[in-house]
Amino acid sequence: MFTPAELLEINTLLTPENKIVILTHYNPDGDAIGSSLGLKHYLRARGIHAEVIVPNDFPKFLKWMPESKKVIIAEYKRKLAFDMVAGADVIFCLDFNSPSRIGLLGDWLVKATGKKILIDHHQQPEQFDFVYSDTVIPATSQMIYHFIEAMDDEKLVNLDIAECLYTGIMTDTGGFRFRSTSATTHRIIANLIEKGADPAMITSNTWDTNTVSRLHLLALVLGRIEVVNEGRVAILSLTRNELKEFGFQKGDTEGFVNYGLSIAGVKMSAFFMEDLYEDFVKISFRSKDDVDVNQFSRKYFNGGGHINAAGGKSLDSLSGTIEVFKTRLIEENL
Ligand code: 5GP
Ligand code: MN
Repeated sequence: MFTPAELLEINTLLTPENKIVILTHYNPDGDAIGSSLGLKHYLRARGIHAEVIVPNDFPKFLKWMPESKKVIIAEYKRKLAFDMVAGADVIFCLDFNSPSRIGLLGDWLVKATGKKILIDHHQQPEQFDFVYSDTVIPATSQMIYHFIEAMDDEKLVNLDIAECLYTGIMTDTGGFRFRSTSATTHRIIANLIEKGADPAMITSNTWDTNTVSRLHLLALVLGRIEVVNEGRVAILSLTRNELKEFGFQKGDTEGFVNYGLSIAGVKMSAFFMEDLYEDFVKISFRSKDDVDVNQFSRKYFNGGGHINAAGGKSLDSLSGTIEVFKTRLIEENL
């Protein structure tokens, strides 16, 4: 948590007169949107207005969250987003560790003069004016709850805050399954339910949203899972043409990589997908125990993230990327 002195200073920055923006990472996920909107609703409960700005669009299955439709998407509203970041007195940076993770917003953030407050759970955070970084906490949305507690404002937690934070924690813990899910996580979830968050409604709005084409895409991917390195590593992939054929929409491949990890004996799963428009391959890594995919992705695939969940990128072809990946596995004894 921030130090008591930092909390006091942050508190003096949070006034209705100050312009406040909340930024989160490229390809926003449930935790990115949940923590950002959760914080926005908390500030509102204190009578303070803030705008949430994201670099690019986010999946439909997150657009039920209160005020998700008001999120400013920088790729569609460049001037508005730029002016807001440049003119802000306070810039909350949620669920990312480096300006390089927020696309075009990154350059603007570096140049902006507002006070930058980081709240994030990724490995190796960069420098900000105030940093609350904890890589043991499973979701930034949980950290927002801790921030509200530290401000002694738990009484302000209302239904909007509860729904957003619940969604962020639920999605980033894979439904309360991943390693850093703790008793504290569950206590917070219990509090959020008491404030009105409805587990069945939230789960159904977020996860029971498959389209037939997404399931067909999943069937295709599952049909060609390859397991290498004596059953320890699973490889999944999709080409651009396949994405087009199945009418790919943002978020359609969310969670595919986890199927690799669900195979008995598999310690690492990697999902390779050609970008729909640009010539690069997006990679998602998941792992178990002490297999550190954050380090692996930083070292070989221009990426990073968490020990057991990371992402990366390759400018090579899909097949070339997978070949390089297999070589790196051997070099790293995985
Ligand atoms: P996903 O595989 O779901 O896209 O991402 C898994 C985790 O890694 C998330 O916490 C995400 O923020 C992070 N991540 C994804 N892609 C990248 C990347 O290209 N660079 C870095 N540093 N982190 C990434
Ligand atoms: Mn997160």
